[in-house]
Amino acid sequence: MKIQIHRGSNQIGGCVCEIESSGYKVFIDFGEQLPGAEKISLHPIEGLTCGDSSKSALFITHYHADHIGKIIEALDDLPIYLGKTALEIYQHYTKRLTYIKDRTESDKNKNLLQRTKTITTFEALQKIKVGGITVIPLLVDHSAFDAYMFIIEAEGKRILHTGDFRGHGFRGKALLKTLRAYA
Ligand SMILES: [Zn+2]
Repeated sequence: MKIQIHRGSNQIGGCVCEIESSGYKVFIDFGEQLPGAEKISLHPIEGLTCGDSSKSALFITHYHADHIGKIIEALDDLPIYLGKTALEIYQHYTKRLTYIKDRTESDKNKNLLQRTKTITTFEALQKIKVGGITVIPLLVDHSAFDAYMFIIEAEGKRILHTGDFRGHGFRGKALLKTLRAYA
């Protein structure tokens, strides 16, 4: 198992992680940088933005722009996964943004909306296979509804990608119970 953080190790937001095992790749989050962050451009990433997408998949923890905002730059046929309710909310939100007066931003949101139509949804604890890699979503509380952490299993190892989460809020008290039970 090889883990590579393409962006986001020295800043909040704009994170892109890659977990590779026997030629298969799982990417987690593909977001915009938050305002004020030092601009870090991404180099082309094999299996995400260039090359062959047949052995990779992109998983999105939640619909905040610093986690999902760059999906239009992903390869057209790359499978993208997002929580079921999260997708509905993100589509409504993106649709509203296509009506704004700024032409460039409006066009960008039209493309984003189009790309969301190809997204596959999952539910908590559903096991998703990408080659020999298994991804298991854990529902957590965050200021975006239907947010997830991911357990990634391969080669007898398990890692936890937390995404954004909080220990307070509507479902915050479930956090430790969830981690004890599954992580
Ligand atoms: Zn967030």
